[in-house]
Amino acid sequence: MKKGLLIVFSGPSGVGKGTIITKLMKIEDLRLCYSVSMTTREKREGEIDGVNYFFVSEEEFKKAIYDGELLEHAVFVDHFYGTPKKYVEEKRSEGFNVLLEIDTVGAKQVMNQMKYDDECISIFLVPPSLEELEARIRHRASETEEVVHKRLRKATQELKETFRYQYIVCNDDVDKAVDSIAKIIREAMQKVKDEA
Ligand code: 5GP
Repeated sequence: MKKGLLIVFSGPSGVGKGTIITKLMKIEDLRLCYSVSMTTREKREGEIDGVNYFFVSEEEFKKAIYDGELLEHAVFVDHFYGTPKKYVEEKRSEGFNVLLEIDTVGAKQVMNQMKYDDECISIFLVPPSLEELEARIRHRASETEEVVHKRLRKATQELKETFRYQYIVCNDDVDKAVDSIAKIIREAMQKVKDEA
């Protein structure tokens, strides 16, 4: 069986990655599998351990790094985030296209490791404007003013990293963005098939 794609998906906090992923996951022919990350940040209301993230302590996270269990990891606004390697490998070898929703620091690590892997694609989601992004982060209102500021500063930094990605999609309309991303994934799947 042909190995599935590894899809690196990034974009600044508040850009709407979650909404888009939820919609993409419902499109069956994309054969997507979401890689659940490990994090040391606090659980937000409505989040479920093992579904949105594996919520762990800093000690547990550092042990996972030490034991070589993470494909990549990064610190994002004072907390650790990382991708458990085993799950990604298992699902790819089962033929699923594994979606990593990760920040630009982690994405760079993955791209460096996968630079000879044609089955790795990278997509960056941009907001229509910074004003819109700020409004979205504030609308979420789950964070303190300090965290909102840190996330906005981080967003500005992340937007400077878009050149590393193969595809840039603007989220000015959720359904259009979903269609564009689905098209990118289908084309990559076709390319892998053609080359087999
Ligand atoms: P949030 O706290 O809003 O859920 O996520 C904050 C940021 O961390 C987002 O940009 C998200 O893409 C990123 N992130 C989530 N999981 C991972 C991961 O496993 N690794 C890395 N490097 N970043 C992650």
